[in-house]
Amino acid sequence: MIKKNYLLSPGPTPIPETVLSAAAEPIIHHRTSEFSDIFMETVEGLKYVFQTDQDVFVLTSSGTGAMEAAVASTFCQGDKVITLSGGKFGERWGQICRCYGLEVHEVTLEWGEPYTKEQLADELKANPGTKAVMATLSETSSGTVYDIQGYGEILAQSDAILIVDGISGLAATPCPIDEWKVDIMVSGSQKSFMIPPGLAYLSFSTKAWDLVEKSTLPSFYFDARKYKKNLEKRTTPYTPAISLIIQQKKSLDIIKSMGLEKLFEHHRILADATRAGMKALGLELLSKMPGNILTAVKVPGMIDGIKLVKTMQGKYMAYIAGGQDPYKGKMFRIAHLGYMGGFDIIIALTALEMTLSDLGFDFKRGSAVEAAEAILQENWE
Ligand SMILES: *Cc1c(COP(=O)(O)O)cnc(C)c1O
Repeated sequence: MIKKNYLLSPGPTPIPETVLSAAAEPIIHHRTSEFSDIFMETVEGLKYVFQTDQDVFVLTSSGTGAMEAAVASTFCQGDKVITLSGGKFGERWGQICRCYGLEVHEVTLEWGEPYTKEQLADELKANPGTKAVMATLSETSSGTVYDIQGYGEILAQSDAILIVDGISGLAATPCPIDEWKVDIMVSGSQKSFMIPPGLAYLSFSTKAWDLVEKSTLPSFYFDARKYKKNLEKRTTPYTPAISLIIQQKKSLDIIKSMGLEKLFEHHRILADATRAGMKALGLELLSKMPGNILTAVKVPGMIDGIKLVKTMQGKYMAYIAGGQDPYKGKMFRIAHLGYMGGFDIIIALTALEMTLSDLGFDFKRGSAVEAAEAILQENWE
């Protein structure tokens, strides 16, 4: 049999063919008006997705580079920050801040448990002098979406700023950053932006930029001030990833022509279909607040979770993600992110059913696919 690869991971994600082929075009020089036009259209498209009037800076790095730039550009040594850590990526905020000599108060959450704005208000009260709270829109390690809107309300009434990792969440789940008062938003190219890894995005509110202007932390490549100065000249401080920016413009054109509302609805439908499939199999979700970006599922007790993921990835070439850290072998994650269509969910569920059958799990064959089909058909237009 001819075997095909199916990328069902929460980054990198599948890419539209027209966007893929754009990378094969001859390279153009970045200090030309031709490139500047493309670059500025890309920035406009990013502002549309961020739902902001502020600049969006484009860095050549993976998403973590924009997280580091957010920290290195904004603070002074010893500044107090609160980080919300409900998984691998929330934890990363603390790691970066400690690396830069900040005083970190890390709020450790159970994976997939909610954290309310009231809890955040109490935490702020207990930690006077806090300069910033760092949160995650979509915690990719647990499939959880947090109440960024609520956190924004609380922080808007204080002197502290809200910094959000929207690396897997932006362009897949609502987060209008100006309206929700997100002061620094960070994202990356290889999740919902439908291009390969290699670009990271970063925006600042005026409240956050006041801190940037006073920041004394050392930074060179990731100094946001350089990106602002160069954006005014329609360019980047250093050689940009030219082909990736051209690809990003193309996929942003697709996103704009679809419209953000429809894109969020698309993710809602794929997520509903996936969740219906899991329910039909009697499998439990890890998160109490599952997002529409990916679905994290607990591996049933009698099944070897490492083997499940290996079988999906190796035998069926349906490249889902496993669990990380405390959930290694205890969870698997199916993404519905990037360039995925409704039928891609059916492929994922068929591969999962065949895998569960290989591993001797007791279930009604076809039940996950049937449940997902019903949701897709109901919502098909
Ligand atoms: C993928 C991801 C990251 C890390 O991004 P890299 O591009 O691997 O640096 C950080 N946060 C979240 C929420 C992610 O999904």
